[in-house]
Amino acid sequence: MKIESRLAQIGSISEPGTGAVNFPIYHSTAFRHPALGQSTGFDYSRTKSPTRTVLEQAAAELESGDAGFATSSGMAALTTVFALFQQGDHLLVSLDLYGGTFRLLEQIMTRFGVNASYVDTNDLAALEEHRCSATKAVLIETPTNPLMMVTDLTEVSAWAKRHGLLTIVDNTLLTPFFQRPLTLGADVVVHSATKYLGGHNDVLAGLIVTKGKELSERMGFLHNSYGAVLGPQDSWLLIRGMKTLALRMERHEANALTVARYLQAHPLIAEVFHPGLPDHPGYEIQRRQASGNTGIFSFKVKEAGLVEPILRHIKLIAFAESLGGVESLMTYPAVQTHADIPEDIRRRVGVDDRLLRFSVGIEHADDLIADLGQALAAAEAELHAKGDR
Ligand code: PLP
Repeated sequence: MKIESRLAQIGSISEPGTGAVNFPIYHSTAFRHPALGQSTGFDYSRTKSPTRTVLEQAAAELESGDAGFATSSGMAALTTVFALFQQGDHLLVSLDLYGGTFRLLEQIMTRFGVNASYVDTNDLAALEEHRCSATKAVLIETPTNPLMMVTDLTEVSAWAKRHGLLTIVDNTLLTPFFQRPLTLGADVVVHSATKYLGGHNDVLAGLIVTKGKELSERMGFLHNSYGAVLGPQDSWLLIRGMKTLALRMERHEANALTVARYLQAHPLIAEVFHPGLPDHPGYEIQRRQASGNTGIFSFKVKEAGLVEPILRHIKLIAFAESLGGVESLMTYPAVQTHADIPEDIRRRVGVDDRLLRFSVGIEHADDLIADLGQALAAAEAELHAKGDR
């Protein structure tokens, strides 16, 4: 079946007795054993829970992996994955990445003796330069949040394999609807399912999908041992959201491209970072390895003084800190999502005080453009009135 059908049918059942088509929410934490030494397959809900299992099997199947693990947030997914490593281990990590991942690595994992180097993961020479005998894995965001840098997953995972390193990909921005890293050579995929998979800005969740029996068993052990698992209610909400992923991603993609093109031509905009625009350096790689584009992109305004009034004047678009939901959100990464990255590193990468990130929702593109247009015009008028220009 095509992915659209598989998504729509997640957890579809025909319950004997009622004929209910939706999988129920099993709140039970304990499960009766039929007899001593026997199990229904469910013993205690941290280890395995029926509603979560439906979600986990769907995630594994959608990502073409062997096992799926649902966690209480995207950060819980990353924390569980990082538990694969031990004192003295070293990771190669995308230079531009979600600020919370950087914070987890720098402020917590370093205390356990796990260190990271931040490099452009699409640059094999840079990866080679930073690789050492302690290096165990490459962690890639592609495209990155917020600068939309693209990494060639086939090339980098082949390089990683040659050196005995795991390839871990944060696939939050594209979802398995557009990109399946495990089919390109990666070993582990992580998601902030809070974003496109949930899709409605109403459930916090994470997912891990692994390839290979041994790695899947290790991850299962860590998932159960850490215990940062997803509850049944949230598992059900996530399943509900994922059923419409295909429709939403198509609209997010189309809207984001339309709005990005509008901003690219706007006189107050200095730069637009969107891998679906032909002048983006990652355009060709992205076309090769993904079947579509995400709904978020970033842009730089010409003057930092425009940022505050733009955020104050947008009406339909909310100034808020997330991405991937049906409602459009605008984020100021330097003071929100990426505030925990030291200023010098942020500036080196390009996450500066002129950068805005736009998670384009599924509203009509005309309304989004009208809202942006009026906010930009109002911001410019204020700047003129102040005589700042
Ligand atoms: N990975 C990426 C790319 C993200 O954007 C985020 C959150 O914004 C996370 C991981 C963390 O996920 P969560 O907020 O669900 O813990």
